[in-house]
Amino acid sequence: MVDMPPLNLERWKKMILKQRSIPEELLILRYLRGRLKDLDEDHLKILEKGFAGELQWDTIVTDALTSSRSLLLNDLLLTSGGQMFQIDSLLLSKKFTIFEVKNYDGEYFVENDRWYTITKTEIQNPLIQLHRTETAFRRLLRDLGIHIPVEAYVVFVNPEFTLFHAPYHPSILLPSQLKRFLQKIKQETCEITNKDQMVAEKIASCHLKKSPYTRLPCYSYEDLDKGIRCGCCERFLFPLSQSYVYCEICGGKEPVEAAVLRNITEYQTLFPEKLVTTIGILNWCGGIVSEKVIRRILKKNYNTKGSNRHTHFV
Ligand SMILES: [Zn+2]
Repeated sequence: MVDMPPLNLERWKKMILKQRSIPEELLILRYLRGRLKDLDEDHLKILEKGFAGELQWDTIVTDALTSSRSLLLNDLLLTSGGQMFQIDSLLLSKKFTIFEVKNYDGEYFVENDRWYTITKTEIQNPLIQLHRTETAFRRLLRDLGIHIPVEAYVVFVNPEFTLFHAPYHPSILLPSQLKRFLQKIKQETCEITNKDQMVAEKIASCHLKKSPYTRLPCYSYEDLDKGIRCGCCERFLFPLSQSYVYCEICGGKEPVEAAVLRNITEYQTLFPEKLVTTIGILNWCGGIVSEKVIRRILKKNYNTKGSNRHTHFV
């Protein structure tokens, strides 16, 4: 599981106008792991890998462009001409640069514009997807009356990626090219003006929050195993004392309060329609923490709404 990079660094704050967040689909699948039988682990692995590649790219690009002379918008979901499209990473310096990030590893080859793994399984040609995104983004800029040139690249971030037989294509950036490419961008950039800032904010304001691409498994509260999952290995924790729970796999102990609060976050994400009540959380924690302790944690960390049977926490 990949954590978010630290966000408190000054250069990140200056440069990144829109932060990347963990995609909802990935978050929900992470929370379902270990609770839902028959979870599509392969799909989860694909999402984890894609997200890890995007975070890796974020680190590469911010390390290379440490000045504040460019603006970065991550993880955009936009629409133009009735077509929805995603941009993994969008840089504004003198021009807009779209980056479609791929975290492929292993060997691939290209034959007659078709892309294959070394074992001859065809994969989607990433240049086709890139072209669609670029066209849609140009249309959006035109609709917004923004006249700034656009370039687009597929970026392969994984150093273990090898591509055979690919004719030179200016829109493909291989791992060995990234450093030099970004150095060139850095040399070309000039000061960000107020107008650039406004343009970038305008694009960020067009971001749609709800992705139609999200593909979630069907699950209900009754289907899921109850308990508190370990923050590291995601196995269920056991009670150790009044104040601590522990993980048999990692061998570590954790304060009950932190573990319960993490479990409540998972509950709220998986079941946003459910009210947070003492009995509800008691059940969700699988009975390893007493009702009294759960009530105390809820009262301390949340606001109480309603009374008696209708008491819940927000
Ligand atoms: Zn553990």
